[in-house]
Amino acid sequence: MQHIDVLNNRFADSEVTEVLNFFLDQYSGRIAFATSYSIEDQVLTHLLASTGKSVKIFTLDTGRLPEETYKLIGSTNERYNINVKVYFPEYQSVEKMVQTKGMNLFYDSVENRKECCHVRKLEPLKRALSGEDAWIAGLRREQSVTREGVNLVEFDKRHCIIKINPLYNWTEDKVWDFIKQHKVPVSSLYGKGFTSIGCAPCTRAVTAGESIREGRWWWENPDTKECGLHVS
Ligand code: SF4
Repeated sequence: MQHIDVLNNRFADSEVTEVLNFFLDQYSGRIAFATSYSIEDQVLTHLLASTGKSVKIFTLDTGRLPEETYKLIGSTNERYNINVKVYFPEYQSVEKMVQTKGMNLFYDSVENRKECCHVRKLEPLKRALSGEDAWIAGLRREQSVTREGVNLVEFDKRHCIIKINPLYNWTEDKVWDFIKQHKVPVSSLYGKGFTSIGCAPCTRAVTAGESIREGRWWWENPDTKECGLHVS
């Protein structure tokens, strides 16, 4: 889309704060930030809070998150004086899925795993983004083969709204430097070998030489390792 190309060119060399300020003004009252409490999302929460501007911050509680993430939700709210909105899955859909396919259906097939992600993540995301014109996410190109094509501004075809990835060209070192410099709170799991954190049964620590998202759905091929939240 021409409009999106223009925006990507305009902000190609801009600092992330300039990008955030522009889009928060441009879509004031109609923009949301989805946090999963990753290191990238914690950087964005810090930066968004620093702008002093209004933005809806939300997260998806799948019901299968690690305890460390629940602790971080509380400490992040406290640190930044915010109250992140938590969206839950429709309980009828969870009950039906678990009843017919079992509690840990995701280990049985990619289809089952995608069904679980749909029920626990995609449907709540759709509700969370309803009525918004733009959303912000913490994707970086460097994270995985499925994210190499991420741009600063994209059109989210599924939700028919603009999607902004302010950290699209950040390196992992840059993220950690920012976190250390600003003492941004992060999950204690990062100190235990985890490099990408999602639901507890679908995330493991990585070993030396493994890529950042190797610990997510580790039983699947690298090119299927997306939950479907991020489709451009
Ligand atoms: Fe279900 Fe695993 Fe997807 Fe979480 S990451 S929604 S537990 S399949």
